[in-house]
Amino acid sequence: MTDSYFSGKSAIVTGSTSGIGLAIAEAFAMAGCNVMLNGLEKPEAAQPMVQKLAAHKTKILYSPADMTKPAEIAAMVNEAARGFGGVDILVNNAGIQFTSSVDQFPVDKWDAIIATNLSSAFHAIQHALPFMRKRPWGRIVNIVSAHGLVASVNKTAYVAAKHGLMGLTKSVALETARENITCNGICPGFVLTPLVETQLTARAAANKISVEEAGRQLLSEKHPSLKFIKAEDVAALAVFLCGQSSSSITGAAFSIDGGWTAV
Ligand code: NAD
Repeated sequence: MTDSYFSGKSAIVTGSTSGIGLAIAEAFAMAGCNVMLNGLEKPEAAQPMVQKLAAHKTKILYSPADMTKPAEIAAMVNEAARGFGGVDILVNNAGIQFTSSVDQFPVDKWDAIIATNLSSAFHAIQHALPFMRKRPWGRIVNIVSAHGLVASVNKTAYVAAKHGLMGLTKSVALETARENITCNGICPGFVLTPLVETQLTARAAANKISVEEAGRQLLSEKHPSLKFIKAEDVAALAVFLCGQSSSSITGAAFSIDGGWTAV
């Protein structure tokens, strides 16, 4: 439902052609925001998503900026500012996963995960902040993970990047605390997206079980609720953190993990 508070505001959502990012982009478009979608797809392949979101009567742009490339991130932020007349909201969501023990972890995978899951947020924030300061108003939401708060085996790069992203969140919050700009982190547990489906397929193959059974095993290890988190619920939290009632919330980590990090 369009909300007059969001009407005319603009949001960049990185990694928003799939999973959690797409749900967040849809939620902001539904609230009345102009949205910059981003992902690795070629512009033609992203057109159906652009058109679907544009049905909410807001302006939707798409940037195929590779979030591991600082110059492309700068160009995407500038394009959003030009296209929308400014940048109000930045959601750093792009992320990838690779699992291996630390002694076997391929160096190129480590570098790719740190670049995509951590450094991309630094670059995007650095380029978006001057536009927010012009308003002066801004909201930054970093999609962290329960792995920004606790660790799991075979995920060294992901856990290190996500702990770093939570640290970046808190540091940016302190630097912008008096400027009408907030910066918060959302820490979801497992959401059934391609990123997690790949892990479940690997677990099913390794343990010679079905993918459904692999999902049940994962939930029984991590989520006391025994339920996956819904991407739409993460999106609703992101919208809340940019909304009217949250102007005093900054530098905080919001768990949405079925109780995982409560134990
Ligand atoms: P996903 O694989 O469904 O989507 C990832 C998106 O990021 C896609 O749009 C992809 O195109 C984009 N992307 C990947 N690399 C990119 C790059 N270099 N440049 C631009 N775009 C790139 O993943 P998801 O599960 O929706 O995850 C989204 C975020 O949520 C990630 O940061 C992930 O770490 C985090 N997260 C996911 C879960 C989960 O259980 N799925 C839990 C906690 C946190």
